[in-house]
Amino acid sequence: MLQNIPLEQAQSILNAHCKIIGKETIRLNDALGRVLAEEIVAKEDIPPFARSPFDGYAFRASDTQNASRANPVTLTIIEEVPAGYAPTKQVTPGTAVKILTGAPIPEGADTVVKYEDTEFTETEVRLFSPSKSGENIVSAGEDVAQGTVLVEQGTVITAPVLGLLAALGAAEVAVYRRPRIAILSTGDELLEVSEPLLPGKIRNSNSYTLQGYLQSCGVEPVVIGIAKDKKEEVAAKIEEGLAQADMIISTGGASVGDYDVVKDALKLLGAEILYWQIDIKPGSATLAAHKDGKLIIGLSGNPASAMVILQLMVLPVIKKMAGRAVYANEKIQVILKDDFPKASPRRRFLRGMLVFENGLTYMQITGGQGNAVLSSMIGCNLLAEIPGGSGPVKAGERLTAYLVDC
Ligand code: AMP
Ligand code: MG
Repeated sequence: MLQNIPLEQAQSILNAHCKIIGKETIRLNDALGRVLAEEIVAKEDIPPFARSPFDGYAFRASDTQNASRANPVTLTIIEEVPAGYAPTKQVTPGTAVKILTGAPIPEGADTVVKYEDTEFTETEVRLFSPSKSGENIVSAGEDVAQGTVLVEQGTVITAPVLGLLAALGAAEVAVYRRPRIAILSTGDELLEVSEPLLPGKIRNSNSYTLQGYLQSCGVEPVVIGIAKDKKEEVAAKIEEGLAQADMIISTGGASVGDYDVVKDALKLLGAEILYWQIDIKPGSATLAAHKDGKLIIGLSGNPASAMVILQLMVLPVIKKMAGRAVYANEKIQVILKDDFPKASPRRRFLRGMLVFENGLTYMQITGGQGNAVLSSMIGCNLLAEIPGGSGPVKAGERLTAYLVDC
């Protein structure tokens, strides 16, 4: 069994064992935030026809070559075309069509002039300057030309993607199924949220934090509940999770103490343990296993340790599993805003928040960095790395940080 391995090695082991789950077809109305399971190629031009960008008159530019204030050109209006209607007449020399915003350009016309720049009656329009051919015409396919790859497979569907799919007439769309992830909390000390505190007991907060992060990432959480620190009980709950979900995340019991039974429970189930412990702080007490083609991730019970590992390592794997083409956390350089006075004999990740000031990118530490300090995850969208063997770090120092977005 691999033990105390680097973060990157643990990450690549998880990536290698993660399978993209199935696809489903859903209504466009339900598609926001889902991951596209097909490449979207524009089967039509958007817009589908050349149209007028405003209310005015369409005619042939060549009719106005010599037009001026002193020498206006008068054209005969042959019809009116509002938005939503097709022209029925062809524009010939000396004629114009009254056209409204969004209406198709009639055949024969190659330019449009706004009402405000003309003088008109019911039957005639006067023009005072030469127009250029093609001027003031929104061409067919101006937004998207037919045949263009509009969105790649594996893209998260955002508001403009929804709009473009609607413009193309896609009432349904193929997306990846949302991963179902079971959440198991282990620990004799754990109470449900509604229970009053008793001596030595705490409430099970990890289950809620995990649900929150998972839901923000487009996952369907399956809460398995609490297992006592007994390997048989933990094993039974893991089996329950395997039956209901695509992956399991447990918290607690993954360390080296007498009551840390998750590893024993996995052995009891015949799961293959992929590694135990990773060489970082916080969150070294973590393990990964697989059974029935599904990953089982055991995180520390300490709320911050668990969530830092979740963000650094587990959410990227989950995004991959969810079919996203881009799933790794982005790395950026930040300038520390605060001192961090502790030494870091081991590689450490600091919780912080991105701050922009005078064009520079800073990280403000979001609070205490203890393993149990969940409050410093509030507002945390950066995890900055202090290399192992470092002394205290000071405000003004530059660090590499992962952007964590869920
Ligand atoms: P463990 O990883 O089991 O050694 O637990 C480490 C610390 O995390 C202990 O202080 C536990 O009480 C705490 N802890 C474990 N599970 C949870 C949970 N579900 N919610 C909040 N704290 C927890
Ligand atoms: Mg425990």
